Amino acid sequence: MHGFGMFLDHLLRRKPKKVCSRCGSYYSVDDAVCPQCDGLDDEQLEQLLAAAREMQRVNHWTGIVMLIAAFLVAAFLIGANFWF
Ligand SMILES: [Zn+2]
Repeated sequence: MHGFGMFLDHLLRRKPKKVCSRCGSYYSVDDAVCPQCDGLDDEQLEQLLAAAREMQRVNHWTGIVMLIAAFLVAAFLIGANFWF
Protein backbone atom coordinates (compact mmCIF):
# COMPACT_ATOMS: atom_id res chain seq x y z
CA MET A 1 0.00 0.00 0.00
CA HIS A 2 3.05 2.22 -0.02
CA GLY A 3 2.50 3.27 -3.62
CA PHE A 4 -1.13 4.16 -3.04
CA GLY A 5 -0.21 6.21 0.03
CA MET A 6 2.30 8.14 -2.03
CA PHE A 7 -0.32 8.70 -4.70
CA LEU A 8 -2.86 9.96 -2.15
CA ASP A 9 -0.25 12.18 -0.58
CA HIS A 10 0.56 13.60 -3.98
CA LEU A 11 -3.12 14.37 -4.61
CA LEU A 12 -3.63 16.04 -1.24
CA ARG A 13 -0.48 18.12 -1.53
CA ARG A 14 -1.18 19.23 -5.07
CA LYS A 15 -0.30 22.89 -5.27
CA PRO A 16 -3.13 25.27 -6.02
CA LYS A 17 -2.76 27.46 -9.07
CA LYS A 18 -3.62 31.06 -9.56
CA VAL A 19 -4.64 32.87 -12.70
CA CYS A 20 -2.47 35.68 -13.96
CA SER A 21 -4.51 38.88 -14.16
CA ARG A 22 -2.28 40.11 -16.96
CA CYS A 23 -2.02 37.24 -19.45
CA GLY A 24 -4.62 34.79 -18.07
CA SER A 25 -2.29 31.79 -17.76
CA TYR A 26 -2.21 29.51 -14.71
CA TYR A 27 0.84 29.36 -12.52
CA SER A 28 1.84 28.02 -9.11
CA VAL A 29 1.01 30.07 -6.03
CA ASP A 30 4.66 29.55 -5.05
CA ASP A 31 5.71 31.86 -7.86
CA ALA A 32 5.73 35.52 -6.90
CA VAL A 33 5.34 36.59 -10.50
CA CYS A 34 3.79 35.01 -13.56
CA PRO A 35 6.49 33.07 -15.45
CA GLN A 36 4.57 33.59 -18.71
CA CYS A 37 4.49 37.36 -18.89
CA ASP A 38 6.89 38.62 -16.22
CA GLY A 39 9.50 40.79 -17.90
CA LEU A 40 7.44 41.35 -21.05
CA ASP A 41 6.48 44.85 -22.03
CA ASP A 42 2.97 45.62 -23.29
CA GLU A 43 3.85 45.00 -26.92
CA GLN A 44 5.44 41.62 -26.17
CA LEU A 45 2.45 40.71 -23.99
CA GLU A 46 0.10 41.55 -26.86
CA GLN A 47 2.14 39.25 -29.14
CA LEU A 48 1.93 36.47 -26.56
CA LEU A 49 -1.85 36.86 -26.27
CA ALA A 50 -2.25 37.02 -30.05
CA ALA A 51 -0.24 33.81 -30.42
CA ALA A 52 -2.40 32.13 -27.76
CA ARG A 53 -5.58 33.25 -29.54
CA GLU A 54 -4.24 31.99 -32.87
CA MET A 55 -3.41 28.63 -31.26
CA GLN A 56 -6.97 28.36 -29.90
CA ARG A 57 -8.42 29.19 -33.31
CA VAL A 58 -6.27 26.55 -35.03
CA ASN A 59 -7.16 23.97 -32.38
CA HIS A 60 -10.83 24.80 -32.84
CA TRP A 61 -10.70 24.17 -36.60
CA THR A 62 -8.55 21.07 -36.17
CA GLY A 63 -11.26 19.69 -33.87
CA ILE A 64 -14.01 20.35 -36.42
CA VAL A 65 -12.00 18.80 -39.27
CA MET A 66 -11.25 15.71 -37.16
CA LEU A 67 -14.95 15.38 -36.33
CA ILE A 68 -15.94 15.55 -40.01
CA ALA A 69 -13.20 13.06 -40.94
CA ALA A 70 -14.39 10.66 -38.21
CA PHE A 71 -17.97 11.02 -39.45
CA LEU A 72 -16.95 10.29 -43.05
CA VAL A 73 -14.95 7.22 -42.00
CA ALA A 74 -17.88 5.98 -39.91
CA ALA A 75 -20.29 6.59 -42.79
CA PHE A 76 -17.97 4.75 -45.17
CA LEU A 77 -17.63 1.77 -42.82
CA ILE A 78 -21.38 1.57 -42.28
CA GLY A 79 -21.92 1.88 -46.03
CA ALA A 80 -19.33 -0.87 -46.74
CA ASN A 81 -21.02 -3.22 -44.29
CA PHE A 82 -24.35 -2.49 -45.87
CA TRP A 83 -23.34 -3.04 -49.47
CA PHE A 84 -20.87 -5.93 -49.16
ZN1 LIG B 1 1.01 36.41 -16.83
